[in-house]
Amino acid sequence: MLHKDRFASGLCGKSIRTDQRWMTPVEFVTGESALEDPSWRNDIQWDGKPLSVLIESKILVIHKLLCKCKLCSPTAKDRHDHDNDDDCFICRSQGSLICCDECPRSFHQRCHLPNVDDAMLGDNLPWVCTFCVLRTSQSWRYPSQKTYQEALTCRISDHLLECQYLLLCLYQADKDHIIAADPCINVRNYTSVIKTPIWLDRVVEKLQQNLYQSMQHFVSDVLLIFTNCATFNRDNAELRGMGERLKDLFEREFKSTFSIQLQHPTASNCQ
Ligand SMILES: [Zn+2]
Ligand SMILES: [Zn+2]
Ligand SMILES: [Zn+2]
Repeated sequence: MLHKDRFASGLCGKSIRTDQRWMTPVEFVTGESALEDPSWRNDIQWDGKPLSVLIESKILVIHKLLCKCKLCSPTAKDRHDHDNDDDCFICRSQGSLICCDECPRSFHQRCHLPNVDDAMLGDNLPWVCTFCVLRTSQSWRYPSQKTYQEALTCRISDHLLECQYLLLCLYQADKDHIIAADPCINVRNYTSVIKTPIWLDRVVEKLQQNLYQSMQHFVSDVLLIFTNCATFNRDNAELRGMGERLKDLFEREFKSTFSIQLQHPTASNCQ
């Protein structure tokens, strides 16, 4: 992914975002290609066009040699700032963000789960996001696969990390905020149709207050969000479709997070 606002030249401005990190065009072309003598202008393509064409047509602007902007700044700190995204990974807005030291994601302290207190952030303390903690711990956490039923009976206190990860996935995917906030406040007639309202912020609250005992409790609350969504929006195909996609995401991520054996009952036919 090429971000033209971050582009300054081949060597300045980390303008290319891969899944793993931000890179300058030169870093990208030398690291990612097996070419003998790679040239970032000709060998990196965007939408089928090499970057040299984008530069000629002024879509990409090369900064002057002694440019004083932050992208061209030689200080280590300014360069380090560009190792992470400019927007919050969860809500996609800007503001004061904390940066993961392992991946390119950035977060608002309140958007990340668990929420990040100032006390957890020192200048020299590394901070690693839930996505990275889960990924690095997964290799040794689940040596054997579980069945869906086994996963549900797990104590939630042993799996807070997984719950936080699953909730972050949902917040991040819920671009139109259909399941995040209390619908009783925001949606007219909601409580006259839905008798058991539940939403993501409330699940987070319950998790923080230790109101769930087993994974089963947590999962059934999350699934209830989707059931409510389908019921309330039965005449609104667009919103219903959004809810279904979020439910699919949750079930997919749940299975992979708990290494659920695929031949066993799945979340959808086990309720
Ligand atoms: Zn510049
Ligand atoms: Zn945010
Ligand atoms: Zn991370």
